[in-house]
Amino acid sequence: MSNGQQLLLAVRDLRKSYGGVQAVDGVSFSVPAGTVFTLLGPNGAGKTTTLEILEGIRDADSGEIEMFGTRVRRVTAVSKGRMGVLLQEGGFEPYLKVREVLHLFASFFDRPRPVTEVLAEVSLEDKAGALVRHLSGGQKQRLALGAALINDPDLVFLDEPTTGLDPQARRNIWAIIERLKGEGKTIVLTTHYMEEAEALSDEVCIMDHGRVIADGTPRELTAQLSQDTWIEFDAPDLAPGAWAGLAGEIQRDGATATLKTSDLVGALDALLRWSREKQVPLRNMVVRQPNLEDVFLSLTGRRLRE
Ligand code: ATP
Repeated sequence: MSNGQQLLLAVRDLRKSYGGVQAVDGVSFSVPAGTVFTLLGPNGAGKTTTLEILEGIRDADSGEIEMFGTRVRRVTAVSKGRMGVLLQEGGFEPYLKVREVLHLFASFFDRPRPVTEVLAEVSLEDKAGALVRHLSGGQKQRLALGAALINDPDLVFLDEPTTGLDPQARRNIWAIIERLKGEGKTIVLTTHYMEEAEALSDEVCIMDHGRVIADGTPRELTAQLSQDTWIEFDAPDLAPGAWAGLAGEIQRDGATATLKTSDLVGALDALLRWSREKQVPLRNMVVRQPNLEDVFLSLTGRRLRE
């Protein structure tokens, strides 16, 4: 997994339960320096608990953690000085100004970055004098990100950084994450948005019920699905027998039919002939590569956001 790169973080067999709930159930992964590493999974998969252990907010029941090249039993202040944390539930004092929030966070560190520099990094220069309560959701999230970056961290934890944001605000956050990676930062991200994991990650660890069910680069993960091209079209009224003569694997999900194949040209050829013979109009036909959602579905029988 490391490709010979330095590992900034590694966990082995991490476990944590809350009463009867095994929230993290033997999780292992490693994060090479300078990469974006994503924990992808549905609500309750154990992503936040895993992150909270690594942020030093919770203690694990058991497991090994290696951080910044040192094996630690629990994450201490020394490591915390080198990390930045964006918690899932941010929430700053609404009557503080943006600039004041960043000065407050800066005061927690011996050598913080200049507030103006951080304001520019998260594109909030125009809002420096605005009250927190007057910011949009996306601006608040950028402020939270700025606060997480005030100590110039090497390792940045972002717990669901774009949940609830509109598409434009989400893309603004993605752009900041890309820039951080360009600066050589290591980023550990959680999300239940497949597109986010695909757009940003060097490596993805798919979690479900406290366990890692698959990991690798997005490309490696989708390559685990045997057929690499999927042709989808509307076929609401077809009887199952009507598929005869089509090469490849066919599935129905509601009114949508999916023909999965590793021979796109051959399958399209057969599909077009078949559609003429059977008079199936192939409405809304799309040809696509399988994505991480498809990987999750094939492993669990569920969608990420059910
Ligand atoms: P989400 O995307 O909703 O944040 P998650 O993947 O981050 O989900 P966790 O928040 O780590 O998952 O939760 C994992 C499991 O542990 C869930 O079943 C959750 O209900 C439970 N859990 C989390 N925190 C606590 C807590 N403080 N006390 C009891 N149970 C908890």
